[in-house]
Amino acid sequence: MTAPIIVWFRDDLRMADNPALRHAVDSGKPVLCLYVLDEDSDEVRALGGAAKWWLHGSLTALGADLTEAGASLQLRRGPAEDVVPAVVAETGADAVVWNRRYGAARDVDARLKTRLREEGLEVSSFDAALLVEPWTMQTGSGGPYAVFTPFWRSVQKRLQEDPPRHPLARPKTIDGFEGAGSGSGDALDDWGLLPKHPDWAGGLRENCVPGEKDAHDKLHAFLADDVVDYVDGRDRPGESVTSGLSPHLRWGEISPHQIWATANQARDRRNADAVGSFLREVGWREFTHHVLYHFPRLATDNWRAEFDAFPWPDLDESALQAWQQGRTGIPLVDAGMRELWHTGTMHNRVRMVTASFLIKNLLIDWRLGEQWFWDTLVDADPANNPFNWQWVAGSGADATPYFRVFNPELQAKKFDPHGDYIRRWVPEYGTDDYPEPLVDLASTRQAALAAYDVVKHAR
Ligand code: FAD
Repeated sequence: MTAPIIVWFRDDLRMADNPALRHAVDSGKPVLCLYVLDEDSDEVRALGGAAKWWLHGSLTALGADLTEAGASLQLRRGPAEDVVPAVVAETGADAVVWNRRYGAARDVDARLKTRLREEGLEVSSFDAALLVEPWTMQTGSGGPYAVFTPFWRSVQKRLQEDPPRHPLARPKTIDGFEGAGSGSGDALDDWGLLPKHPDWAGGLRENCVPGEKDAHDKLHAFLADDVVDYVDGRDRPGESVTSGLSPHLRWGEISPHQIWATANQARDRRNADAVGSFLREVGWREFTHHVLYHFPRLATDNWRAEFDAFPWPDLDESALQAWQQGRTGIPLVDAGMRELWHTGTMHNRVRMVTASFLIKNLLIDWRLGEQWFWDTLVDADPANNPFNWQWVAGSGADATPYFRVFNPELQAKKFDPHGDYIRRWVPEYGTDDYPEPLVDLASTRQAALAAYDVVKHAR
């Protein structure tokens, strides 16, 4: 019997444009598809609740697609560095392939690659999640990029000269491995990824459909319709004119290569600016991964070290809870936090406003906000989430200056002028049931600027 090849799925839960899967199918060997729930490796950040919910749906969808093509998805739990070699031993596999990841988890991959190669296996990794891998982009002086605009300029230049690969076709049939060890593994339901007591996921079920199919439906619907309003509308939370693709990109149900190709095909005179603006946002995702690759401790350490001197006051637990629960008495902030809790997502403009309010009006460390988003967002992303929190905090790469404090009332006037978004999430606003503001926006802003002086002098 021919030895199988293992495809180790991670943040690439798709069949089409999946280079590792394509390589395995083309190898002519029987294919064993594997997913490992790794909650034990130091370098792999444990998933939050909403992310687990999404993962359950995404694995269900991928498992069904693989079965239809002739393979199955084996589920294992434990540290990947133990589990992958164990599956190799049980099945007699002589090759393992995967698509690359870019945070600290890549250390796990590097150690495994060395170990398995020493044992004589073929091990290959592929480029699947980014249009430009971080180490291929350098500034004129040879270092990593720290500012988005020149980064994106060089990326665009590169992609003009050397266009992204044409998305790989979805394998129609897969010769699934059926030998010893092929039937082992866990049942997805036993992983307990879905909340039970209490089941808080009702709003997520109403709003999200994990899986590759929905990712493409969303992209096509967006490009056929909403994209024309994107430039003006993308900042208005009451309108849903953005793509909604972030969780699908987070879990790799769609690749940026597919988005690039489809968006460019859909580009015409009417929507050219809008498509460019949308792809620029996809470019921010490339940039956050570039930054994470060069600074893997992005979720825990200030990217700008002088922010280590920031004088965070003792934590006010009740203020943190009021923020988390959407009862700060600041309507746009409360609307965003309730949208997040109910749907597992939040509009980008409101993410900025709620983050700014936590950091600069409540003077609560950005890491606590980042952690809450990590737990409650279905698109909670190891690069995008800490990068954007540090961007708002002022401690990050190409960050907004610390002294820019979003005023949530002015932001609401500008971006939710008719109050549609606030009414949807805070129906009691304007009645006696709505709390008084937790803090005074003007004086807390002054206090934040005074605290920032310490950082300025720490430089
Ligand atoms: P679109 O406007 O349709 O954009 C297309 C794609 O571009 C998105 O799907 C996303 O992958 C990417 N993108 C858009 N904006 C950004 C950005 N600012 N940074 C990086 N990539 C971007 N995005 C996440 O995917 N995961 C997170 O955990 C996350 N946390 C955030 C935390 C804060 C405090 C802030 C301010 C932003 C965060 N974002 C995060 C970025 C952004 O809010 C979401 O990507 C966006 O709201 C998703 O909606 P969309 O898919 O409709 O976006």
